[in-house]
Amino acid sequence: MVGLIDSILQKYESVWALNHALSLMNWDLETYMPEDGAARRGEATASVELLKRNIILSMREEVERAAKQEGLDDINKGMIRVLKRQLDFYTKIPSETIEKLYRITSTASVVWRKARATNDFKSFSPLLKTIVEINREIAEKMGYTKHPYNALLDINEEGLTTEDLDSILSQIVPVIKDVVSKTHMPSKHELEKVRYKEEDMRRVNESLIDILQMPRKKFRMDVSAHPFTVGMSVSDVRITTRYEGIDFRSTMFSVIHEAGHAIYELQLPSELEKTPVGVAVSGGIHESQSRFWENVIGRSREFVEIVYPILTKYLDFVKKYDHEEIYRYFNIVRPSTIRVDADEVTYNLHIAVRYEIEKRLIDGSISVDEAPELWNELMEKYVGVRPSSDSDGILQDIHWSGGAFGSFPNYLIGNVVAGMIYSKIGKLRRYITEQDFSSVKGFLKDKIHQYGSIYPPKELLKRSFGESYNAEHLAMYLREKYLSY
Ligand code: MG
Repeated sequence: MVGLIDSILQKYESVWALNHALSLMNWDLETYMPEDGAARRGEATASVELLKRNIILSMREEVERAAKQEGLDDINKGMIRVLKRQLDFYTKIPSETIEKLYRITSTASVVWRKARATNDFKSFSPLLKTIVEINREIAEKMGYTKHPYNALLDINEEGLTTEDLDSILSQIVPVIKDVVSKTHMPSKHELEKVRYKEEDMRRVNESLIDILQMPRKKFRMDVSAHPFTVGMSVSDVRITTRYEGIDFRSTMFSVIHEAGHAIYELQLPSELEKTPVGVAVSGGIHESQSRFWENVIGRSREFVEIVYPILTKYLDFVKKYDHEEIYRYFNIVRPSTIRVDADEVTYNLHIAVRYEIEKRLIDGSISVDEAPELWNELMEKYVGVRPSSDSDGILQDIHWSGGAFGSFPNYLIGNVVAGMIYSKIGKLRRYITEQDFSSVKGFLKDKIHQYGSIYPPKELLKRSFGESYNAEHLAMYLREKYLSY
């Protein structure tokens, strides 16, 4: 019966190739494509997506037969599980629904951008209503237990439920509030306003890539409006950053963040490339990698000692501060209204706000018109600050205009799992001090990367760390770091 799996894998190779093409098309769209190329690129992308959908749907009968086979090993079981999830989605959600979402979001992104710039939620709300409706429809069609939002969570992070998130938040929110209230931080820092020259900052970022020992023949870094990572294969992984010209922390930490994503992509099992399990398991686990490198490693005292000489070499204005001042500058905790500028502590509270609002929009307990006020109330309740406008409130994130509901919690899962890695890795300080990042990479490969998607996220964590999402480790990490100042 080996023949059946072989036949599935042979068909899947075309899906892999289409995914490869889609990644490259998307990377190009965000980096080098001339502006007017967007419309046709959008059409071409939609066509390729459709092709992929049809190939996967054509595999249904074989996948169902393969699933009934006895004595499958974990890799084959994993492949069948991943394919069944894709088949389930494509079978339950008609291509018309996807097209409808695609059409509305191409308008909504433009309208949202303008609405945010002019603080005009009303111009965006009719589109948001339709996007919420489509997502409710997707949740109904996919099916769920207990809460319709669970259907959307599962699409984004296999097996994640509102119960998991409620329990994570009940563990973590009091600790965060405690850290925030006991940590005294400057309300402003003069470095935030200092401008840098892009070419100087590029040199810093290139040095960071070398410190992190990224393999140059398999890796590159470019510039885009929003930093991201794309893995074309284990031997071609690309990241981007952006240069805002002010507050050098942002570009620097975006490079470390994306390098964390890239290390995952580079260390996926090469022998499983071109198969359904040769890819990262989920957005939340992916985010745990980026946040582990960015926050746990990148914002540690030990790492600051390594980068300090590079900063002073290329950025003159850093010379008047010592390492400890730079360390503190990198770790200012300050409740604020904007998620993307949030520190690693209060960031989680921004997710709590979005989680509650999404959940209630999807179960219909609030309307889109009520959402801006609820946003502000929840910001006050969780973060302790009230946005002065919708632009700094409900209009700040790009996600909903792109149709995405249920993906914000991935960032929280990322922090929780990064906390778990921190508590399990041992000797981390020594690895950083000795710049022994290959040991860190080895640990991550051993516990997470080598498995690709063979096991769903919760099972992977149980196998590698003995437990599923446990926010206690993140709580401990935050207490240790911020309450021992
Ligand atoms: Mg990320």
